[in-house]
Amino acid sequence: MIERHATARVRHALRRRLLTVKTTERLTPQMVRITLTGDDLEGFVSAGYDDHVKLCLPTEGQDAPVWPAGPDAPVLPEGTVTSPMRDFTPRRHDAAKGELVVDFAIHAAGPATEWASAAKPGTRLGVGGPRGSFVVTDDFDWYLLIGDETALPAIGRRLEELRPDVSAIVIATVAGVEEQQTFETATRLETRWIHRPLADASDPAFLLDAVKSLPLPQGDGYIWIAGENDTVKILRRHLVEERGHNRAWIKAAGYWRKGSAGFHENHNEG
Ligand SMILES: Cc1cc2nc3c(=O)[nH]c(=O)nc-3n(C[C@H](O)[C@H](O)[C@H](O)COP(=O)(O)OP(=O)(O)OC[C@H]3O[C@@H](n4cnc5c(N)ncnc54)[C@H](O)[C@@H]3O)c2cc1C
Repeated sequence: MIERHATARVRHALRRRLLTVKTTERLTPQMVRITLTGDDLEGFVSAGYDDHVKLCLPTEGQDAPVWPAGPDAPVLPEGTVTSPMRDFTPRRHDAAKGELVVDFAIHAAGPATEWASAAKPGTRLGVGGPRGSFVVTDDFDWYLLIGDETALPAIGRRLEELRPDVSAIVIATVAGVEEQQTFETATRLETRWIHRPLADASDPAFLLDAVKSLPLPQGDGYIWIAGENDTVKILRRHLVEERGHNRAWIKAAGYWRKGSAGFHENHNEG
């Protein structure tokens, strides 16, 4: 018998790849879509919509990524400056074309924002992982996907993958109407865009108010939340403690935290 609402963690062999930029495109004014390619993409697997890869981003004076020492990287001479690393979602992987697409939300400053803003065809970077995937069986009655700009790549991917005619609701914060994206999906999709200035991206009130005013549909639903860490924690608490949503059917992750660089935290306990 097939278990209903099954979730599974899948492990992948960890590999560090050297890839190059094939194309860059402004999806919206503050979202850069970068298509990566390279022989190293061979064997790449991303089984879950919220997988992440670790990007190793050459910085000033580096024309190729400098990885820290690791199982498949040599010990570095003393004083070597390694490239900054940041987590990003494999937005789309096309093995036949040999392409990996990553969408970068551009914000005030940070190595990833700077790298993506300057990238052009031929620019190199390192891509590590995904180390593992969390796979949620698509047999729920409805899905609720909540987040800010950094969550849009995973949300877009999930909406493309879900079965036709299932009910999906997206609640997303962006800076304005020009930052809204059109999702390709066969689901019955309702999207609620919440506009707030980027300077207020860590204020939880925008998403919390929108989620509080949303009646949850009947039946079994799976909720996914990602974005600024404190906001994600508050939303998860609201949905589990005040709305009584089954904690096994909610996944929440802090994708960044105000004032912290390269932050990542999962909130699936308690
Ligand atoms: C699993 C996972 C998947 C992710 N997928 C994506 C993705 O596909 N696309 C994407 O754009 N991001 C994604 N993120 C978020 C991204 O990793 C962070 O936003 C990261 O901090 C960006 O790196 P940076 O070098 O630009 O800034 P950092 O050097 O990390 O941070 C510099 C400063 O900017 C602030 N900051 C960071 N991000 C933002 C933001 N979005 N808005 C406002 N201020 C910010 C920090 O608080 C810090 O003060 C993901 C994160 C995780 C954990």
